[in-house]
Amino acid sequence: MPLPMTPLPSDASALRALGRRGFLMGSALGATAVLGALASVSQAASAAGGAPARRMPVIFIGHGSPMNALADNGFTRRLAAWGRELPRPTAILSVSAHWLSSGATGVGVQARPRTIHDFGGFPQALHDIDYPAPGHPALAREAAAAVKQSPVVATEQWGLDHGTWTVLRHLYPKADVPVFQLSIDYDKPAAFHYAVGRDLAALRDKGVLVMGSGNVVHNLRATDRGTPDGPAASRPWAQSFDDAVKAALAGRDDRALIGYERLAGASTAVATPDHYFPFLYALGAAGAGERAKTVHEGFQSGTLSMRCVQFG
Ligand code: ZN
Repeated sequence: MPLPMTPLPSDASALRALGRRGFLMGSALGATAVLGALASVSQAASAAGGAPARRMPVIFIGHGSPMNALADNGFTRRLAAWGRELPRPTAILSVSAHWLSSGATGVGVQARPRTIHDFGGFPQALHDIDYPAPGHPALAREAAAAVKQSPVVATEQWGLDHGTWTVLRHLYPKADVPVFQLSIDYDKPAAFHYAVGRDLAALRDKGVLVMGSGNVVHNLRATDRGTPDGPAASRPWAQSFDDAVKAALAGRDDRALIGYERLAGASTAVATPDHYFPFLYALGAAGAGERAKTVHEGFQSGTLSMRCVQFG
């Protein structure tokens, strides 16, 4: 059984969603609980229950446009195949570029997380999509307890945003794998996000698939919607940065990836780090010796790197 929610301490108000131009309308986080205060984490562990699970891989997905939810293209077909290749998780922990918080990290503990349509200017068909995967409150609480970098605040006020459901719709079309999200504390630097990812690695032994969903290269101002998918030949800075990330990944040069601002093209490729940080969670959750396997690469709209990676 999930642990009861702890009454809301006053400092939980430190957590709030950040609105972002166009893509994140934002919604204030209300009733929350500081999980560090929960005494009986072992109860949650037994609630997660069952036979010991195998160590799950870690994945990072470049999600691109929300329209990929409806698309049939090389990227979405690769996601569908990937979902069949991966061992079946007990639950998915998603760190999406579209849940940014301030002052604390949040975790979703709903039994039934709602599908959030956090975008504007897209067809009604996209708004009509529901991704009815259940949550996993017990494992969400375990995830919160595993994070040593800072307290993690439980909330029922978020749900599954489009960084999560537009890709899971292809990976797990039946929506039958429980999903919960962890927010990105946008006040914190790159090294913090990598370190939180490292803390989350323990969840892999409990059957949790840690998933980062963002884009290694993401600059909406420089996006060319009419550009065909493929290499970013017309935008050398995008290709340079994506190549630099690929090379650093091949050598597991995590230090270079945490210090991404020094990589070629970074100032334009990562104009804001919201879509890069989910990649650092995945990198952190991967063991130091684990090889990065390229699952998909290429660009959409000229400048959105669709690079997808699996560790383990
Ligand atoms: Zn996005």
